[in-house]
Amino acid sequence: MVINELFYSLQGEGRLAGTPSVFVRLAGCPLRCRWCDTKYAWSPTAGTAYTPEQLRHEVGRYPTRYIVFTGGEPMTVEGLVPFLRAFAHKRMHITIETAGLTFLSDLPCDLMSISPKLSNSTPIDPLQAEQHEAQRSNPEAVQQLMERYEYQLKFVVDTTADLDEIAQYLEQLKQVNPDKVQLMPQATTKEELITKSQILAKVCKQTGFAMSPRWQVLLWDGQRGT
Ligand code: SF4
Repeated sequence: MVINELFYSLQGEGRLAGTPSVFVRLAGCPLRCRWCDTKYAWSPTAGTAYTPEQLRHEVGRYPTRYIVFTGGEPMTVEGLVPFLRAFAHKRMHITIETAGLTFLSDLPCDLMSISPKLSNSTPIDPLQAEQHEAQRSNPEAVQQLMERYEYQLKFVVDTTADLDEIAQYLEQLKQVNPDKVQLMPQATTKEELITKSQILAKVCKQTGFAMSPRWQVLLWDGQRGT
C-alpha cells in the first residue's frame, strides 16, 4: 500500500481532537474537493510503498496507542485490511477518516469518522466537477457505516447557506444520533478559521450540534506533516 506521509501530531477535529496520534495518510482519492488541503495525496502513487510490518514498526516509535488512517480516501484504497489488522491486536485505537463514499463491512476500526462532502466542495473546473459530483454523496453507504461502526459525522460548513443542505442530508439517514454530528468551519488559514468559527459558533447554538475545532489549522496553519 502506498503511504503518502506518516507523522505524529494531535488529532485536529472531532471527538478525539487534541489526542496525540500517529497519522497514516494513504495515497489516492477519487474526489477533487475545491478546498482540499491534501491535494498532494490525490494520486494513488503519491508516496512510498509499505508492508504492514514496516508500518507497524514505524508507528511503534511513537508514544501513543491512537492511530488515524486518513487520506486521500482510505476506504477506496486497495489492500487496506491487512494494514488495519496489523494494529487490531495491539490495543491500538484505530480511526478511519472517510468521506463516506463506500461501505466495507469487516474492518478493525474503533471510530469511523465520516465527513460527507457537501456541494461547497465541488471544484470549479468542469471536468473535475463532473467526476466529483458523480461520487461525492452516497447516503446509503454512510447509513451502513453508521450501523456497523462506532461513528462521528463531520460536516464542513463554508457559509450558513450550507445548513439547509446538511439538514436535507441528515433527513436521508435513519436514527442519526445528534450527539455524533459535528460542524466545522471551512478554513485553510488561521485567520479564516477564527472568522468562520465565530459565525459557526452562533449556528451551533441555534442547531444544537457541536462545533469541531480544527487544531491543525489553528496551531500550524495547515502546514504539511504537523
Ligand atoms: S475527500 Fe478529502 S482528500 Fe479527497 S479531495 Fe476531498 S478533502 Fe481532499
